[in-house]
Amino acid sequence: MTQTTGQVIFRSSRQVTVRVADEEWSCELRGLMRRDGRGTVVVGDVVTVEPDGPGKGRVMKVHPRRSQLSRRRESGGARELVVAANIDQVVAVFAARQPKLKFGALDRVLVAAAYNDLPALIVINKSDLQLPAQQRERLDVYPRIGYRVLEVSAEAQQGVDRLRDELHGRASVVAGPSGVGKSSLLSLLTGLELRVGEVSHANEKGKHTTTAVNWYPLPGEPGADAGAAVDTPGFRDYALWGIEPPHIAPLMPDLAPFVPRCRFSNCLHLEEPGCGVIAAVEADEVTFERYRSYVGILDSVLEQRD
Ligand code: GDP
Ligand code: ZN
Repeated sequence: MTQTTGQVIFRSSRQVTVRVADEEWSCELRGLMRRDGRGTVVVGDVVTVEPDGPGKGRVMKVHPRRSQLSRRRESGGARELVVAANIDQVVAVFAARQPKLKFGALDRVLVAAAYNDLPALIVINKSDLQLPAQQRERLDVYPRIGYRVLEVSAEAQQGVDRLRDELHGRASVVAGPSGVGKSSLLSLLTGLELRVGEVSHANEKGKHTTTAVNWYPLPGEPGADAGAAVDTPGFRDYALWGIEPPHIAPLMPDLAPFVPRCRFSNCLHLEEPGCGVIAAVEADEVTFERYRSYVGILDSVLEQRD
């Protein structure tokens, strides 16, 4: 039978769901594709499938990826785990309150996006609940250092159209801690009824898992690719895969310009003499909070190497 092309929208250990035109096919994976290493198939991959009965097929080939989002896998020995392929941007979703906006976690997501060469958009949901004044001050730093920040409310349906515009025509990984309203926002954006208020997501066998990645095509003109929202539970814990410690600060747009001023090229901006980053913090050109986030990220990368 003639082979066709589709995109992987869900994956379990032995099977993937492939979107072919407007249908969803359940496809078997062969050999190496089941493993986590090279040659594997992840959500977002464009694949060649051979039909194998109605709504069924076999994955024959994985097409080259235009981008991928990786993290460090901790269980069973540290190695790279590709989370999703063919992603255009990372949308970091946090809440104004309930749960409290954790800037350290936000900065980790932003650095992870930059490490994967992906632009990031910051979305603050639950803006119907007021952001505490101190948090407001910290949030105001982000547009100044070049990030786009969108304040929305799924509940009050405010800012959702602007968010829809930002996602249109692109594949966006939606990352953030649970409880911030990701499912609520995704339901509004996809028109699907996603479970709100659930911590874990059910896979095709009905078992609950916190690792499932879902690719939700966004609604649009028939036949046109309107983009997709990609849900990745647990992204807040994502560790940077294989990064060298001196490469972390250059991924932070406010710290980056000062790195070339350091006396030592392998400076980690802790207590080294002649450090340009520390001088910038002392001169209030970099906020102490952002510097503290840097030190937190550096610590966790150094810990992984021990
Ligand atoms: P997720 O864990 O990130 O997927 O978050 P959910 O979408 O499940 O939402 C968690 C809780 O926050 C639910 O009780 C929602 O009703 C509530 N929620 C979601 N969006 C908003 C919002 O914009 N404002 C307020 N006040 N509550 C919201
Ligand atoms: Zn330095």
